[in-house]
Amino acid sequence: MPQKTKDTPMMQQYLAIKKDYPDTFLFYRIGDFYELFYDDAIKGSQILELTLTARNKSAQDPIPMCGVPHHAAQNYIDILVDKGYKVAICEQMEDPKLAQGMVKREVIQLITPGTMMDQDPSAAKQNNYLAALHVANGYYALAYADLTTGEVRVTQLRHFNEVLNEVLNLNSKEIVIDPTVPAADQATFTKLGLLLSENTQVKNSSEFSYTAQRLTLPAEKSVLKALISYLLATQKRSLGHLQIAEAYQVDQFLRMDHSVKANLEIFQSLRTGKRDGTLLWLLDKTKTAMGGRLLKQWLNRPLLDETELNARQDAVQVLINHYFDRIALQEALQKVYDLERLAGRIAFGSANGRDLIQLRNSLAQVPLIITQLQKLQGTALDHYRDQLDDLPEIRGLITDAIDEDAPISITEGHVIKAGYNDQLDQYRDAMENGKGWLAELEAKERKATGISTLKVGYTRVFGYYIEVTNANKQLVPTDRYQRKQTLVNAERYITPELKDHEAFILQAQEQSTQLEHELFVDVRDQVKAATEQIQDLAKVLAALDVLQSFAVVSEREHYVRPTLTMTDQNIKIVKGRHPVVEKVLGANGFIPNSLQMDDATTILLITGPNMSGKSTYMRQIGLIVIMAQIGCFVPAEQATLPIFDQIFTRIGAADDLISGESTFMVEMKEANHALSQATSRSLLLFDELGRGTATYDGIALADAIIEYIHDHLGAKTLFSTHYHELTQLAERLPRLRNVHVGATEDHGRLIFLHQVLPGPADKSYGIHVAQLAGLPAAVIKRASKVLQVLEAEGNDLGGDGVVATQIPLFNLADTVAEPVVQPQPAVIPVALQNLQAELAAVDISELTPLKALNLVNHWQQLV
Ligand code: ADP
Repeated sequence: MPQKTKDTPMMQQYLAIKKDYPDTFLFYRIGDFYELFYDDAIKGSQILELTLTARNKSAQDPIPMCGVPHHAAQNYIDILVDKGYKVAICEQMEDPKLAQGMVKREVIQLITPGTMMDQDPSAAKQNNYLAALHVANGYYALAYADLTTGEVRVTQLRHFNEVLNEVLNLNSKEIVIDPTVPAADQATFTKLGLLLSENTQVKNSSEFSYTAQRLTLPAEKSVLKALISYLLATQKRSLGHLQIAEAYQVDQFLRMDHSVKANLEIFQSLRTGKRDGTLLWLLDKTKTAMGGRLLKQWLNRPLLDETELNARQDAVQVLINHYFDRIALQEALQKVYDLERLAGRIAFGSANGRDLIQLRNSLAQVPLIITQLQKLQGTALDHYRDQLDDLPEIRGLITDAIDEDAPISITEGHVIKAGYNDQLDQYRDAMENGKGWLAELEAKERKATGISTLKVGYTRVFGYYIEVTNANKQLVPTDRYQRKQTLVNAERYITPELKDHEAFILQAQEQSTQLEHELFVDVRDQVKAATEQIQDLAKVLAALDVLQSFAVVSEREHYVRPTLTMTDQNIKIVKGRHPVVEKVLGANGFIPNSLQMDDATTILLITGPNMSGKSTYMRQIGLIVIMAQIGCFVPAEQATLPIFDQIFTRIGAADDLISGESTFMVEMKEANHALSQATSRSLLLFDELGRGTATYDGIALADAIIEYIHDHLGAKTLFSTHYHELTQLAERLPRLRNVHVGATEDHGRLIFLHQVLPGPADKSYGIHVAQLAGLPAAVIKRASKVLQVLEAEGNDLGGDGVVATQIPLFNLADTVAEPVVQPQPAVIPVALQNLQAELAAVDISELTPLKALNLVNHWQQLV
């Protein structure tokens, strides 16, 4: 930092302000620019690709500086905030022309990743949640708010893992913490790329007390206080659109970890990370941004309540049955703008004339929707219709006051309609007539002077003038005309009459824009008073939108209404399909499969070759359950389902990105999590559990885990495996049933049937899959031989579950290789030394059957 003594008064002011915003890019307004100085300038110029210059270039210690024009600032701010930085906007608080001494400047808003109000249109269907965490009495209190929509929620959680789940589900970019949050937890957030923000705000500001009272924050809700006070401290204005916090408990909804949602590809494709190919992608036929966001919330929190679910299903059914009414509803919804975010901007004070017109146009759709729903009187939609209010006063006010073609700016006029305010009309009249007056003056002066080319004109710099070409200069009446400007071919003059008139017009213009701004703010404030009603309306329209979306998809994809039972835990799915795979494969490509489980069958052990469809089958069950518990219809011919309390998955070999743990460790942790949390009302989907370790470890663990679920949990479990040995568990565990996904051979080639059939698979098709994958013929031949030897030796799980024969995987080459290599006791050939070294280097936990085959082949070449 530079020596204080050398700083100019302006830099002193800058440094004094910057002191309060050390971790923030300070956008310091000077005239038409925002300037960045010192480190902000160096870093900012790199990120924003701006030219780095300097203030006091000639001085010994020039100050690094870069700047952006104020009208283009938003883009630059968005870039910085998107990258996880904070930006403080420091404005000139008085007109520099009128200021005495230094212009007063203040930070008027702090924009952070969690408090970004200006949303990219592509993010319309996403919430932007700012989270806050506080730890007390052994509980984590988690609150979060979306500043753009005003939603606020709060919950209490026992374990940090649960907190992590919620935060990951919310996709938060920023979390407000205080010293009660353990350092290790903070470190985890940082690792995940979340911005940690401390709440340094004094909590007794009047704005805080007012907001706290309006939202009736109970004294013990420290976390809500922290959240709200951080929002007020950064936004520095009243936030009238924040809604009363909705308290919830995670177990009020179908519980799914973040990893379950990832594995089942609810929001993000595992392969591409994108929305395409996900359940959300499939189900989202919403017409409004609010509907899009609500659908995500429903998917995040499927219901447990039978009555509520039936109500949603009823509504979907009505919308399926009444096609034309649904089309009319969709057309009306299509014209509804994002009411929640409009209400947010209005309350926030950032709404312009166009926003109000959008609000009015959206409200104008509501009577049409009401009429439409009236046609369906006596159905499940009555409930929604009764809550619709088209706010006629607000509509009338906007129609009367706001110009249909209002510009983006609210300070440059043309916002208020003619006829709304007498005073404004008078100013406008003066300005209009002023123009006529000028034309009259021109005619009058031409006549008086006899100069037919005389012109009356206007420039911003010189104001009004009378222009006479040099040829006619001598005709100018010098008593009245005063010379003002000399051009090459002409002279420009001013007269006292023109001067007076200029003052009058300019005043009318200035007063008119000033008055327009005042009138606009007044209209906006009147609309703001209806924030809550607009938000309520938004919620009803969003729900209708999601329901019509369900109806569209259910009808188009031939889904069926599932029967939900509370009395038993039996599942019956007739000809179920995986909704997304089916969609991708097209109408006839997907083979449906049924599922039946009850008290006598709680575990299905699924065998079958790789790529036969085991994983697809398991995922399809998970997705059908989720779809049923958000109120949508399901891809099946018939479905009867219990209401599940939790879904657990162990699918795929995903390493844990957070902890950097190995696949096997993650597998075991997920298994442990499921075993400790699951109840008889849960659904467990375990795909190839135990794959991440050596064969017999894997088999032993899988065996023990299945037995535990069978004996102690009774949770409905689908367990796929390529360990053929496990199929013999059926002899020991009465509620376990073997099924397999069929495949058949045709001239040594494998044909997948994708059909789930009773009983265990009778043969491992791994080698055929390797053949399909294009492995060299020599490898395939060799592997077939190895298999024959293994099959001849026979190995299975004994009655007590203990593995009868252990074949160490890496003795295989010795066991079956021909000719058998007999190393000399003393001299070990180089090739074998290499072999030993390579064997030692193999990480068994990372080995897949295919890799193992490759290695065996490679070692054969060595010996
Ligand atoms: P596994 O888990 O047995 O290795 P997957 O479930 O990953 O096999 O399925 C492999 C591929 O087979 C899928 O990508 C899909 O294209 C296809 N498939 C799976 N199930 C079906 C089905 N029921 N009908 C048609 N194709 C299917």
